[in-house]
Amino acid sequence: MSPRHESLGPEENPSVGAGRQGGRPAGGGLPDGRRAVRRGSAASPAPLPGSDRHRPVDPVADPVEAAEEARLRPRRLKDFVGQGQIKEHLGIVLEAARRRGQAVDHLLFAGPPGLGKTTMAGIVAGEMGVSIRITSGPALVRGGDLAAILNDLRPGDVLFIDEIHRLNRAVEEILYPAMEDFQLDIVIGKGPTARTLRLDLPRFTLVGATTRTGLVTGPLRDRFGLVARLDYYAEDELETIVHRAARIFSVPIDQGGAAEIASRSRGTPRIANRLLRRVRDFVEVRGEGAVTREAASAGLDLFGVDRIGLDKVDRAILDALCRRFGGRPVGLSTLAVAVGEEPDTVEDAYEPFLLQRGLLQRTARGRVATPAAWAHLGLEAPTGPEVPPSLFG
Ligand code: ADP
Repeated sequence: MSPRHESLGPEENPSVGAGRQGGRPAGGGLPDGRRAVRRGSAASPAPLPGSDRHRPVDPVADPVEAAEEARLRPRRLKDFVGQGQIKEHLGIVLEAARRRGQAVDHLLFAGPPGLGKTTMAGIVAGEMGVSIRITSGPALVRGGDLAAILNDLRPGDVLFIDEIHRLNRAVEEILYPAMEDFQLDIVIGKGPTARTLRLDLPRFTLVGATTRTGLVTGPLRDRFGLVARLDYYAEDELETIVHRAARIFSVPIDQGGAAEIASRSRGTPRIANRLLRRVRDFVEVRGEGAVTREAASAGLDLFGVDRIGLDKVDRAILDALCRRFGGRPVGLSTLAVAVGEEPDTVEDAYEPFLLQRGLLQRTARGRVATPAAWAHLGLEAPTGPEVPPSLFG
């Protein structure tokens, strides 16, 4: 699949906002022709077939949603909810850079989609009053793509590379001297007459994001001054995020409504914000005033998101494991056929949350539903020899 490029307007630049100082003229936060790539590329879970294309609990943003999300991005560190330790650490790194009058150290943010990595990159630029350029690993096909972007940076600018684990080798090698010595080696010509031209770059900050830390090569990881792993959010944090988004969207909501949405959001701000938008539509159509617990609950039930955030395919997976296969271990491809999905989709899009919630186990003999899954479906777990003890889990 070829990477998709898009230009984003300045209003989408999380760093453009009140308080910009020392940067470029108004509206100049993003040079024309800036290229950006949104999620949904090959590294992301495969698109879901049929009606499930718009899965309400997909942690990956679709392109339309990506544009809407820009409005919701906090621009200051103090407005970023949760991730206390990372915020504290980052606050110190930013303050130190400010005092030294230097660019911030290179930063790597790791963690599942939708937890705020792009938002953090925008905050770094916003706090430092510099511009941000957004691109992604798969968009940087040739060394020249990266060289052109680097050459265009101004002192202190933030270069954000999403899915940095997907950079190809040749591009990654250009990045090393750029990160370390702020130098760009360009090879001119080919064969025996080829020569290398060395260009000085301004001191910039590379912010990388990855959903797969294990795939970031050692030499690249070592060049980041701070590697931070974002965690899933607690329900009270998601509640705060829902209240904040409701304010921005002018949606009346009470405590119970926010709590209900938070509890079904799978620890992920992107999902919380999306469920809020869906419930807002539901409440508007029903002609009800505010998002209350009852309204949120009725709306989300209707959209097929249950009280712990499972959708109908999640439940079908657990149901197949418990009911159809009676608790026996089931191979991935058999399970996929049983629920009418591709094995890759089951593995990449559905299993991570079921594993994280302790509803499913991967054992040497296959997938098994845990007692918590049986309980969630309102079924009694068998106690016979069919259920393997957590020998392999
Ligand atoms: P990622 O880059 O990790 O996929 P994003 O930074 O794009 O995630 O965040 C997805 C959405 O969730 C954004 O619209 C952002 O507004 C919201 N969001 C993420 N983290 C937070 C947070 N800590 N506080 C408030 N909103 C957040």
